[in-house]
Amino acid sequence: VTGKPLLKVADLHGWYGESHVLHGVDLEVAAGEVVTLLGRNGAGKTTTLKAVMGILPKRRGSIVFDGRETISLPSRAIARAGIALCPEERAIFSSLSVEENLMLPPQVLPGGLSREQIFELFPNLAERLSSQGTKLSGGEQQMLAIARILRTGAKLLLLDEPTEGLAPVIVQHIGRTISRLKQEGFTIVLVEQNFRFAASVADRHYVVEQGRVVDMIHNDELDENIDKLHAYLGV
Ligand code: ATP
Repeated sequence: VTGKPLLKVADLHGWYGESHVLHGVDLEVAAGEVVTLLGRNGAGKTTTLKAVMGILPKRRGSIVFDGRETISLPSRAIARAGIALCPEERAIFSSLSVEENLMLPPQVLPGGLSREQIFELFPNLAERLSSQGTKLSGGEQQMLAIARILRTGAKLLLLDEPTEGLAPVIVQHIGRTISRLKQEGFTIVLVEQNFRFAASVADRHYVVEQGRVVDMIHNDELDENIDKLHAYLGV
């Protein structure tokens, strides 16, 4: 990362109750970058996103966002600072319509996308505005979950496995959406199991193992590092 990072995580530790799962995560993300967290199941990728969002109750270390230490801030203050998390389970309310789901989060910052901007990015959602959450396909639910966090005005988007369980054509659509968001100036940290997808959208990759970042690979140096990466991921 050249210049001042938008996000700098240093020696981040995190716990679930007594269980110590993050053991000193270090990473940096520059404004406008797309960075992935790769690693085996249980390595601590989701927990790292939760800690950055402030929803992991027990955490220690340093998380500087936009020049400001956020490690002790409650999640609502972190949201107001400009970070949003799209969780793996997508959290679409099944009894609410697409429109209601979309309008649920408060616009906490200026610069949140308007309905029109969201429908331009996700034309399929515009057609399904009055559909119930349960009636959506997995891909539509994922689009809705991403669209919803764009309303908040956050500039750092934390996306947890957005392609999980989706058909290849939908995965491609999500890839185009992420590239578009990057063009628009968003900064994105992505947890991904789909390695090919990660390589198609990201600038850099952090490898997480047992609650630590153990390596960083530039996307344009992926080919030289592919064996090493396969070993990390156990594929
Ligand atoms: P996955 O792809 O499986 O989600 P991950 O790298 O995101 O992998 P985490 O979900 O961050 O891994 O989990 C890190 C460790 O914390 C694992 O050992 C997991 O079993 C444990 N863990 C995760 N969530 C909880 C929880 N709510 N309570 C207790 N332990 C948890």
